[in-house]
Amino acid sequence: MEITQRKQALEQAHLAMLEKIAAEDANIAKSTFLANMSHEIRTPLTAIIGFSELLLDTSLTMSERIELINTVIQSGKHLMQIINDILDLSKVEADKLDVEELNISPFELLNDVHSLVSLMAENKGLYFNIDYSYPIPELIVTDPVRLKQIIINLCNNAVKFTQQGGVNINVSYQEESKLISIDVIDTGVGLSKEQANRVFSPFTQADASTTRKYGGTGLGLYLSKQLAEKLGGDIKIKSTPDIGSCFTLTVATGDINKDRLLSSEPDIKKIPAQPIINNIKTMVTGNVLLVEDNVNNQRLVTMYLKKLGADVEIANNGKEAIEKAEKNTFDLILMDMQMPVMNGIDATICLREMDYKNPIVALTANAMKEDVDVCYKAGCDDFIQKPISQQSFLLSMTRFLQPVDSLEEAASPLTSSLLIDEPEMIDLVQRFVGKLPHYIENIVESDKNEKWDELRKHIHDMKGTSGNYGFNELYKLMQGIEFELAKENYDGVHIMVSKIDGIYERIQTGLQ
Ligand code: MN
Repeated sequence: MEITQRKQALEQAHLAMLEKIAAEDANIAKSTFLANMSHEIRTPLTAIIGFSELLLDTSLTMSERIELINTVIQSGKHLMQIINDILDLSKVEADKLDVEELNISPFELLNDVHSLVSLMAENKGLYFNIDYSYPIPELIVTDPVRLKQIIINLCNNAVKFTQQGGVNINVSYQEESKLISIDVIDTGVGLSKEQANRVFSPFTQADASTTRKYGGTGLGLYLSKQLAEKLGGDIKIKSTPDIGSCFTLTVATGDINKDRLLSSEPDIKKIPAQPIINNIKTMVTGNVLLVEDNVNNQRLVTMYLKKLGADVEIANNGKEAIEKAEKNTFDLILMDMQMPVMNGIDATICLREMDYKNPIVALTANAMKEDVDVCYKAGCDDFIQKPISQQSFLLSMTRFLQPVDSLEEAASPLTSSLLIDEPEMIDLVQRFVGKLPHYIENIVESDKNEKWDELRKHIHDMKGTSGNYGFNELYKLMQGIEFELAKENYDGVHIMVSKIDGIYERIQTGLQ
């Protein structure tokens, strides 16, 4: 009897100890998680704050500035990636990650991937190909956003860890198991067996030195595997150190009718690598009500809008927005969603109930499908995701605001500000204008022959003299070209150089 009791007591003690260990393990895991995350977040933040502070140093040259600015942008984007990963991770852990089931073309999806990844590979001097082993289904049922997220993550890794050679994607269809199989094969550093076993656990990249050398959250592969499982498939890895790695992603396709299997690539419109909006030429007109509670966002969006040529009025919350919209009609309302006093959804519903008919575009950091649906249901016409990319902002604005013909402005004559104070300088100014065609010819020639050093010198000289003679438009254009040259954005240089003639004509009419 006593023995049984003792045995029970011992067992209880043993259980209690196991629970305690489990709890401690969970605690350690939690602390490690927080320590890791805090480190991951701090790293890009340090760069953002540090480099921004350095930018205030007046002794920096323009190209040094541009380099710093690019680092700040890159760090910001990296930080955004980390935050997105953490959000996904918390959904995975809470088992709240929902996937959609849509009919999509695997070819179109992979084309998108190609346009995103090929540029990155090209920049590193790597090849990037997609090969199909037919037959491949014309359409599959899956979540396109998540599938693309996984493939891009695998491709990004492949490019990141490859210095020579490149990346190949092989796509095939397994009819019996109804899976589409996507191999991402690189000729990169590769992994040992031990490292390969670890890559799918959260926060552990191949080893700590990998993180130092290549960066990254160490969450990408873990999340990708979880997502692949959610999509009815898996990710497996085969790798040899110094030879390369092959990640095989499988994803369920749903039922595929035999007659929907293709034996060659269908005709789909290829998306250009980067849709470039010519933001120098794009100008709009209209008055915009910006409803936004955060002062920095107010400043940023106002700057974007002013640059485009629109007039801006600001409301700090939904209530103010309604008051302003009662008095005034706006060509466009830009509506932040999360605001004190009255949020964007309530304000939009209220405006639509008041029979306010002009477009309302939501500004929101919540870009999940259900959040977007809520915006549309409330009466928004479009949404722009935060953080705002200038490209998508421009696209949306040109959709809702009236474009301006920039030729109108071209007709107005330009006069030298020098003559306002000292009219007797007219002879000097006239002589300068007389020499302008020669200077302009030099600039146009260097630009045409892509002799950038020569062009840089001509532009610099012209900037100085046009400033001295009080031709501010010309000065500003030269300054702009100088900046584009420093950024090595030669498309921008071409566009701006093509504007010189217009300014010259305006200067000539101004002299008459
Ligand atoms: Mn807000």
